Amino acid sequence: MPRLRSLKTSNTSDESTSYALRTFQEYNHLPVTGELDDKTVKLMNTPRCGMQDKPTPHGMPLAFSAGNGDWGKKVLTYKISKSSTKVTADTIRSTIASSVAVWTSVADITITEVTGAATADIDIRFEFGAHGDGFPFDGPGGIVTHAWYPPDGRLHFDDAEAWDVGGNGAELFPICAHAVGHILGLGHSNVPGSMMYPWDPATGNPAAVLSPDDLAGIQSSFGTTPDPVTQNLLDANDLQSRPAGLVGKPAVCYMSFQAATKSPAMDMTIAFVEDVYVLVIDDDVGLRRITRTESIFSGIFYNPDAAFTNPKTSYTYFIKGKYVYEFDYNLDPVSRNMITEDFPEDPHAAFARSENEIYIFGATKVWKFDLQTKSVVPGSESLIKDAFRGVPDDIDAAIYDKPNTVYFFKELSYYVYDLETNSVTEGGPEYDAPATFLQDKCISDDQ
Ligand SMILES: [Zn+2]
Ligand SMILES: [Zn+2]
Repeated sequence: MPRLRSLKTSNTSDESTSYALRTFQEYNHLPVTGELDDKTVKLMNTPRCGMQDKPTPHGMPLAFSAGNGDWGKKVLTYKISKSSTKVTADTIRSTIASSVAVWTSVADITITEVTGAATADIDIRFEFGAHGDGFPFDGPGGIVTHAWYPPDGRLHFDDAEAWDVGGNGAELFPICAHAVGHILGLGHSNVPGSMMYPWDPATGNPAAVLSPDDLAGIQSSFGTTPDPVTQNLLDANDLQSRPAGLVGKPAVCYMSFQAATKSPAMDMTIAFVEDVYVLVIDDDVGLRRITRTESIFSGIFYNPDAAFTNPKTSYTYFIKGKYVYEFDYNLDPVSRNMITEDFPEDPHAAFARSENEIYIFGATKVWKFDLQTKSVVPGSESLIKDAFRGVPDDIDAAIYDKPNTVYFFKELSYYVYDLETNSVTEGGPEYDAPATFLQDKCISDDQ
């Protein structure tokens, strides 16, 4: 059961107040004064998780606490029963999937989403104020989430917070990853910066990176797997949306590329799939590696909408909403820049032919992007069907390849476009992109 902090209201005698304050200060690594001093008040006013902290034996550091209840199984399902009023349902879904993957990628547990009438082990809801479970939310700030330990599965967010993903509001991803930790039986840690630290996870650990403490906690409960990421994407049986009739190929062969780019400096193509994974593709041998996005691109903890590489500098850029993230030729982060104007449409794909020819594609429009000003080149906007004849609307990703070729990806197909003749020279709905680019992993035996 979640409990809200009672420290500020429940004590009547001075002595027990002082004792409670000393306990609170000791737990939170503050100077132990027993007084409501500035540091203590400041921390108490910080947004936090509504779950109770575990009492600390005096003088002892509290490491992770695992084993708060037990699911008794290693395959769980979740369902978003009530989405947020602050962020689109699609963004909520992908963010929650990313949050779940923070834990499932390092421990021997599988958690998948169910929708519709199906019941799930984990029930996720965004609620305002009193919402029927006896633990009313408190409006903006203060308590931002609460959850129940196994095997209950209730996970609630205070929808009065200014929830946001990759923007300026309350960053949902790290807070959700924290709450999923509770769902899996982890209690609070008093190690600042760890995933299970209760205070302001969005600021203290925005990329939801697990600390050694968090890893020890989850792996003590569920154990490790040799290479869970690769295993998940290579096991087609785990894939809910596997098309009927296509069997025997790894799951990754049924995933569209959400964004992709080719880095000449690294001599590889990278493609983003399933919100949290990167495929590293070698031109000659195909799929070389599957890994989590943030293990290659620190700070990018869910999939970008589009990606391109500047042929002149070999710097790679990711577009996520209104942000452009810049990585150098070693794929080390350089900067995160917010563009100052709206794109004509939400970005879907991008490619760069040269430093001055960077194209960004929306659902139906394409426009040029100026790297210096981080803005749309005035007057460059046109319809995809006019500027790139034969290329369909709603493409997912694009890759520029020397000297004049662009690969456009849409669902599981690709189109090869020649920039000299301005025409599609190969490809179309029947061309299987994973089989072509990931090579032997996705080529059927019967072909
Ligand atoms: Zn918590
Ligand atoms: Zn609740």
